[in-house]
Amino acid sequence: MAMSRRQKIIELLLDTDRPLSVEEMSRILHIDVENIKGDLSRIAEAMHRKGYKFEIVPGRCRKCGYEFEASLHIPSKCPRCHSQWLEPPRFRLVKA
Ligand SMILES: [Zn+2]
Repeated sequence: MAMSRRQKIIELLLDTDRPLSVEEMSRILHIDVENIKGDLSRIAEAMHRKGYKFEIVPGRCRKCGYEFEASLHIPSKCPRCHSQWLEPPRFRLVKA
């Protein structure tokens, strides 16, 4: 049986040796960015029950250096300078 989309994302985030942005996951798995964004919180819930958590490298504004909070939300704009030139947050799954 083919692995579900969510299962493919989980496998990748368990196997990777460094946290990945949603864009990187999309490139590696050939899955649409919007679908991956939508799956992240469901994956967090399902994997929490299995004893895993997301390691999150927070996003950062490349223009003013503003640091976003570590969150599953993917920011699109800097709240301080309104730039959209952002270093995206990165994720992987680790044992809780
Ligand atoms: Zn900024």
